[in-house]
Amino acid sequence: MPALPTHARAVVIGGGIIGCSTAYHLAKLGWNDVVVLERGKLTCGSTFHAAGLVGQLRTSANVTQLLKYSVELYAALEEDTGQATGWKMNGGLRLACNPARMIELKRQATTARSFGLEMHLVGPSEAKTLWPLMNVDDLVGAAFLPTDGQANPSDLTQALAKGARMRGARFVEDCPVRAIRVEDGRVRGVATAEGDIECEVVVNCGGQWARDIGALAGVLVPVTSVQHQYMISEPIAGVPRTLPTLRDPDRRTYFKEEVGGLLMGGYEPEPIPWAVDGIPAGFQFGLLDSNWEHFEPMMEAALARVPALETAGVRTLLNGPEAFTPDGNFILGEAPEVRGFFVGAGFNAFGIASGGGAGRALAEWIAAGDPPMDLWPVDIRRFGALHRDPQWVRNRTLEIYGKHYTVAWPHEEHESGRPLRVSPLYERLAERGACFGSKLGWERPNWFAPAGGAARDTYSFERANWFEPVGNEHRAARERVALFDSSSFAKFMLVGRDAEAALSWICANDVAKASGAVVYTQMLNRRGGIECDLTVSRLAADRFYIVTGTAFATHDGAWIRANLPAQLEAKLVDVTSAYATLALMGPRARDVLQAVTSTDVSNRTFPFATCGELSIGGAPLQALRVTYVGELGWELHVPTEYAGSVYDALMRAGSPYGIANAGYRAIESLRLEKGYRAWGADIGPDHTPLEAGLGWAVKLAREVSFLGREALLAQRRDGVKKRLACFTVDDPDVVLLGRETIYRNGDPVGWLTSGGYGYTIGKSIGYGYVRNASGVDDAHLSSGDYELEVATERVPCRLHLRPPYDPRGERVRA
Ligand SMILES: Cc1cc2nc3c(=O)[nH]c(=O)nc-3n(C[C@H](O)[C@H](O)[C@H](O)COP(=O)(O)OP(=O)(O)OC[C@H]3O[C@@H](n4cnc5c(N)ncnc54)[C@H](O)[C@@H]3O)c2cc1C
Repeated sequence: MPALPTHARAVVIGGGIIGCSTAYHLAKLGWNDVVVLERGKLTCGSTFHAAGLVGQLRTSANVTQLLKYSVELYAALEEDTGQATGWKMNGGLRLACNPARMIELKRQATTARSFGLEMHLVGPSEAKTLWPLMNVDDLVGAAFLPTDGQANPSDLTQALAKGARMRGARFVEDCPVRAIRVEDGRVRGVATAEGDIECEVVVNCGGQWARDIGALAGVLVPVTSVQHQYMISEPIAGVPRTLPTLRDPDRRTYFKEEVGGLLMGGYEPEPIPWAVDGIPAGFQFGLLDSNWEHFEPMMEAALARVPALETAGVRTLLNGPEAFTPDGNFILGEAPEVRGFFVGAGFNAFGIASGGGAGRALAEWIAAGDPPMDLWPVDIRRFGALHRDPQWVRNRTLEIYGKHYTVAWPHEEHESGRPLRVSPLYERLAERGACFGSKLGWERPNWFAPAGGAARDTYSFERANWFEPVGNEHRAARERVALFDSSSFAKFMLVGRDAEAALSWICANDVAKASGAVVYTQMLNRRGGIECDLTVSRLAADRFYIVTGTAFATHDGAWIRANLPAQLEAKLVDVTSAYATLALMGPRARDVLQAVTSTDVSNRTFPFATCGELSIGGAPLQALRVTYVGELGWELHVPTEYAGSVYDALMRAGSPYGIANAGYRAIESLRLEKGYRAWGADIGPDHTPLEAGLGWAVKLAREVSFLGREALLAQRRDGVKKRLACFTVDDPDVVLLGRETIYRNGDPVGWLTSGGYGYTIGKSIGYGYVRNASGVDDAHLSSGDYELEVATERVPCRLHLRPPYDPRGERVRA
C-alpha cells in the first residue's frame, strides 16, 4: 500500500464508479491533490456486478444532459486512457403493450426531443427487425434511442481511475475511513487505521455505505440497500453483439446482450430490502443468494417476450445489493449540515449510466462552490428531517422501486409512510372530502371531493376525475372566496441587529422597508440564477419573517445560512411548525375577514404587500396581504394551536359569501392563469429574473450591492438569450403537463417548464423559455408563429406576453 499522505485538497471516499469518476473530473479540473480511499478494492461495492445498461432519458433536462455526457465520455475514454471499457452504442429499445403505455412513450419521445435527445417511435415490425428474437404479438408500439448503449462497469471504472491517476490523483485501497473530523461546521479531515489526512473537501461516494459514512460527519444521506437480480443465459443463436438494449416495462424486465447470450433483469413489485440491521463487515465483491422464487414472475414474463430463452441454459442468477433512495433520484451536492462535505450516492441501479455526468457535475460543484447547473431533482437539499428515519426511508424506497416500470401517471402520489406530518386542520379537511397529496412528508389537500364522492385520484393522461371539482374550487377563488390550508409552507425567522443588512445582501428585491412591509423577492447566485423565491415580511427592526415553498425548507434554509455575511449578527430559525397558514383568497375575502376581526382590514389601512397582527375570536395571528392566485386575499399565519378555531370562524363567516375549501390543484390552475412562477419548474438557478420576466422584483435601479447584481447588470447590458413566455392552446382535448416542445416558425426553441389548465379562461396553459442565440425581446417573441409538440403531435398555440388572466393588470405576486 502506498504511504498515506497527511494532507490532500480533497479526499474521495469510495472507489466505485462514482468515486472514480469524481476523482477523474476533479483531476481534469486541475485538482490533482486528490486521494481516493477505498475500504476494499476498486469496484468491490455495487459497481462490479452492475448489468451495464446505459440509458439516458430522464424527466429532468439537466439530469438527461448529465447522462448524455456519460455516453460521450464512455465513447472517448479508451482513447484517453488506453483502458478498454466495453462501451457499445447499440441503441436502446423501449416497448409499449397497452394504450396508456403508448401515450407515456409518446410523451417521453417529445420530452427527448425537447432535451435534444434522438428517440424515434417505431411500429411492432420495425421493433422486431431491431430485436429479431422477441415476440411482438402484444406490442402497440416501441421507441428507439439510437445513442443508448452498454458498457463493462468494472472496466469503465478502472479506466476512470487510470485517467485520474494519469492526472495526479492517488488511490489507496484496503483503507476504510473510520472517522471524519468536523470543526465549526466545516470538514477538516478523515481518519483511517493507516493515519489521518487533513483536507478541505471530503466527497462521500460510498454507495450503500453512504448513510453510515455521512453519519460519521453528522450528515444525512437517506439511502437504503435493496436486492436486485438478473440472470445471464448461455449463448443463444441469433443474438448479435450489436443487439440494442431492451426495456419491456409492461413485463417489468430489461435485456442486454452478454457474451453471445442474454442478460435479463427486472423490477419486482415487492422488492426485498437488504442489510436492514447494517451492512455486514467485510462485504466486498459480495453477492447475495439467488432467489429463484422471487425471480420467477420476471422469468415467466421474459419467456413470453423471448421464447428462445426457454431452451437456453441459465449461466447464473445474480443477486446484488444496491443503494436506492426514497424518490428514485440520486443524491448529489454539498451537505446542508457541513461545509466542504459533498455526497454522490444512491444511484438506484442507474449509476453506470449516470457515472460520467454525475462525477463531472460533482467535481465542478466542488471546484466552483456552486452546482454547474440546476440539479434540484438530485440535490441533497431536497430531503428533510423525516428522512432521518431509516424505516420511513426504506418503506418509501421500496414503494418507488416497485413502481420503477409502472406507468408514471401525471400527478401521481405515493402511499407509503402516510400520513406523517399533518396540519392542525387535517381532520377537519378530511371530513370535508379532502384528497391529500404529500410533499416532504406533509399531507396537503390537493382537491375536495363533492359530497358523496370518493376523495381518491383516478389517474389518466386525459382529464382526470378531479378535473371538475378543481374547476369549482378555482371558480370559488375567482368569483367568491376560498380557503386554502397552506400550513406546510416553510417558514423562517431571521433575527438580529444586522438582519436588515444581511437580507439586503442576499435578496434581489429591496427588503430594507419599514416594519409591516411584505416583499416578494428572489435570492440569486453569482450567475444571477434564482436560488430562492419567497416572501420577506418585516415584523420589527431586527426581525424578518420568511415564507417559502413546502419542498424548499432545507434548500432555502441552507442557502440563506451559507450566504449570510459572517461578520453580521443575524440568526435564522426554522419556525415552520410554530405556525399554521390559512390562505383566504377571493373577491369576498375582505368581507369574510372583516366579519371575524375588529382590526380594520380596508384597503386604506391594510394595503397590498403589508402585514399586521390581528385577532380572530381571541386567536392572535400575523396576516400577510399577499396572493399566489391573483385575487384579493390574506395569508393568515396562526400559532398552531389556534388554527382549528380560526378555520371554524372563517368558514362560519364565509358561509353567506359561498366560501369553499380549495386545494393545491386549484392553486396551480389559478397561478398559471395569473403568470406566477413556480421555483423548481419555471424558475431556478439556471434562470435569471430578467429571463423569467421578474426584473420588476429586482432593485437594480438602486445603487445597492447584492448577491448576483453584477451578473444581472451584465445581462441587462448584453440582452437575454431566452425569455419565459406563456402559451395557451384552444383545443380543449390537449392536456399540457410540462416538457412539451415549443416550436417557433417550425424550429424547436425550448420546452414547457409548467403545464396545466386555466378554468377561468377555459384553456390549457403552458410556460416555457423561448431561446435564441442572438437574443430574445418582445419583438422576437411576438413575431413568431408557435406550435407545441404534445405526445409527438404538433398543436397550434398562442403566445402571450402578459398573463392570460390579468383583469387588474397586477403583476405582483407577493
Ligand atoms: C444487480 C444490479 C444491476 C445493475 N445494473 C445496472 C445497469 O445496468 N446500469 C446502471 O447504470 N447501473 C446498474 N446498477 C447500478 C450500479 O451498479 C450502481 O448504481 C453503481 O455501481 C453505484 O456506484 P457507486 O460508486 O455509487 O457505489 P459502489 O460501487 O458501491 O462504491 C462504493 C464504494 O465505497 C466503498 N466504501 C464504503 N465504505 C467505505 C469507507 N468507510 N471507506 C472507504 N471506502 C468505503 C465501498 O467498498 C465501495 O467500493 C446495477 C446494480 C445492481 C445491484
